[in-house]
Amino acid sequence: MAYNMKKKILCLLLACGLLAFAGCGQTTVSGQSDTDTESATQDVFAMDTYMTVTAYGDGAEEAVSAAIAEIERLDALLTATDDTGETYTVNQNGGGSLSEDGMYLLERSLELYESTEGAFNVAIFPVMTAWGFVDDAFGVPSEAELKEALALLDVSSILVDTDGSTVTFAREGMAIDFGGIAKGYTSSRVIQILEEYGIESAVVNLGGNVQVLGEKVDGSAWRVGILDPANPDEGIGVLETIDCAVITSGGYERCFEEDGVIYHHIIDPSTGYPAENGLASVTIVSQDGTLADALSTSLFVMGLEKATAFWQKNSDSFDVIFITDSGEIYVTEGIADDFTAEQEVSVIEAQ
Ligand code: ADP
Ligand code: MG
Repeated sequence: MAYNMKKKILCLLLACGLLAFAGCGQTTVSGQSDTDTESATQDVFAMDTYMTVTAYGDGAEEAVSAAIAEIERLDALLTATDDTGETYTVNQNGGGSLSEDGMYLLERSLELYESTEGAFNVAIFPVMTAWGFVDDAFGVPSEAELKEALALLDVSSILVDTDGSTVTFAREGMAIDFGGIAKGYTSSRVIQILEEYGIESAVVNLGGNVQVLGEKVDGSAWRVGILDPANPDEGIGVLETIDCAVITSGGYERCFEEDGVIYHHIIDPSTGYPAENGLASVTIVSQDGTLADALSTSLFVMGLEKATAFWQKNSDSFDVIFITDSGEIYVTEGIADDFTAEQEVSVIEAQ
């Protein structure tokens, strides 16, 4: 047959079409009214997304410039697709040395592999490649191709030498991918830098990953809008928060369509297929941005039931907003009073 009947839509375009409206992922309504306070804001395109850093207070301009430089440094360092990146280099060479940032992310990723019972798998890169998410050559892989990629998800073959800051992949073809954790780490680093510059009020929006420092200048909480996954140019609820990362993973953020089926970029490592278990988005709220990013991906993979059990065991370190495919909203107890939506919201209680 001469015609390629496959219809492929890059949902990323849709998500980024929302930029002007919602800051590519979530609406942050700052509503700062104190005009005497110095403020600065800068945008940058990095890690495949638009990012904005806004800080308030003396020295805001300088602080934001330093934050943007850090984003650019981490983008160049952590990319798996560009030869500037050490991730790219270790993937090419079956291992090699890693910077302090790379080592930190690898070690946290390996801990998260254990704690999430494999839902978070930093060795996912060969599977991302098989689906064409790495080079935008989207397509459902053949059974054989997927089987080969799945065999490379063996995290126990990632050998880390902490003292020498090196990693070795014991299986040929293995490759790591910080796509599920790097943006959260970056927002945490940005907040740290702003604090070093004496900033006490700031908001960082890394394409759907929001992290806020302190409270707004008027002393009230930040209001972070949560998008409706069924209609991602509209909000479904608002979270009031102080000093937290609010990070969402949604199937709608990056996906393609083939033969009438939508395939997205959050992969269930046990099948090699996009996770499909009834969740449309997972938002993690935590003071630890790195954790929040990794867990948004992991809990999306787990599905509501397992993710609820996971939260109940770890409820001191994060909270969650789940939105199901049928549009139901569940929030965990710790943020129940801070989240408002027009529709009914079910509260998940700690045990
Ligand atoms: P986004 O990048 O849109 O914020 P996520 O934080 O959920 O969304 O990250 C998705 C990215 O994480 C994928 O593009 C891929 O790089 C990586 N990834 C996908 N599935 C997994 C997984 N099960 N474990 C770890 N990383 C994953
Ligand atoms: Mg993530």
